[in-house]
Amino acid sequence: MTQNLFFPTGHCKNTKLGGYLLQGGLGWNSRKFGIACENVIGLDIVTANGELVHANASHNTDLFWAARGAGGSFCGVVVCFHLRLFPKPLYSGAITQAYDMKHLEEVYRWAYEVGPQVPAAAELQLLMSRRVLRFLGAGIEASVPIFADSKEELEEAKAFMLQSPIKKKAFLSTPFVPYQVATMCRFRAIHYPENHHWCVDNMWTSATINELLPYLKGIAKALPTAPSHMLWRNWHPSARQADMAFSVEDKIYLGLYGAWKSPLQTRKSCTWATDWMRWMSHLSSGIQLADENLHNRPARVMSDTHLQKLNQIRAVRDSSQVFSTWPTCPYPSYDPRVLYQ
Ligand SMILES: Cc1cc2nc3c(=O)[nH]c(=O)nc-3n(C[C@H](O)[C@H](O)[C@H](O)COP(=O)(O)OP(=O)(O)OC[C@H]3O[C@@H](n4cnc5c(N)ncnc54)[C@H](O)[C@@H]3O)c2cc1C
Repeated sequence: MTQNLFFPTGHCKNTKLGGYLLQGGLGWNSRKFGIACENVIGLDIVTANGELVHANASHNTDLFWAARGAGGSFCGVVVCFHLRLFPKPLYSGAITQAYDMKHLEEVYRWAYEVGPQVPAAAELQLLMSRRVLRFLGAGIEASVPIFADSKEELEEAKAFMLQSPIKKKAFLSTPFVPYQVATMCRFRAIHYPENHHWCVDNMWTSATINELLPYLKGIAKALPTAPSHMLWRNWHPSARQADMAFSVEDKIYLGLYGAWKSPLQTRKSCTWATDWMRWMSHLSSGIQLADENLHNRPARVMSDTHLQKLNQIRAVRDSSQVFSTWPTCPYPSYDPRVLYQ
């Protein structure tokens, strides 16, 4: 970024690049610049037979296709990623509003309704936890990073937050505050502290707010202590131009992040995320490889046709199965409502 260039990296500075680029990568300004793997323009790869090859839009196109979305199911070791960089946006910063948990229904109804109109330069994220901003009480933190190339674009991106009909209910409300990405990464990192055990799970959904609300209320009631949290990300993707393995995304992204430090908390915290995502799975169109929990809950990671194509590429490129694929296991069949009553 010191060169006035920009890449949609992950939201924390310790998001490592290898897995992030292979599996999709929803990063800063990704609604505008595209997801990270869409901006991979070439890769140097050591294949299953030990050969070093370059893959791009005209060479080894099967590997180039697979490397953009296959994540841990990719059949090669990438030793170099070649990336498309963008001019650094002129304006970057964020607007934050924080709400008490008693406003849960109004906040999510608003986010759901405003979602389709949120400009691509803004990313609406709602983080629900027992410690908003890590030092206040239980509630929902609406935080909106904005990246704009002109004053007009900035004003347009700010408007839905500054003129929000529920803003007066927020117990904390900031104007647009200019920040560099490094500072925004530091703010985000307060919710993902190190020295914790994490158990996460997620889903893409286009379910209605009436379908989602009973679950959101249940999740709020069952929230383990912070830094455990739920992330609602307004996504509403535009049509992707690139043909690549990545193929599952939807209007809303829900991620559950169960975190615990003490072994005494393990039992409750380590199943919370997966239990709730399993219970809501009928509302899901798939999951994002990033915050997945495929060991405990198999789920749809790409479209059926893309999965078939990936398997064909793997069969040709790695016939001796040097590289493993995503884990799968049968669903344990129980109803998590029993655990959270
Ligand atoms: C604090 C934090 C914040 C995060 N924020 C975001 C975010 O904003 N957006 C987002 O999309 N994700 C985010 N993530 C998720 C992140 O993208 C994944 O954890 C990702 O897997 C990290 O990459 P890694 O290199 O550590 O992969 P690993 O977890 O080490 O590996 C994941 C899989 O990819 C394979 N792999 C990794 N590198 C290579 C390579 N070079 N060649 C071949 N295979 C390889 C591994 O074998 C493994 O199967 C975040 C994670 C953390 C911990």
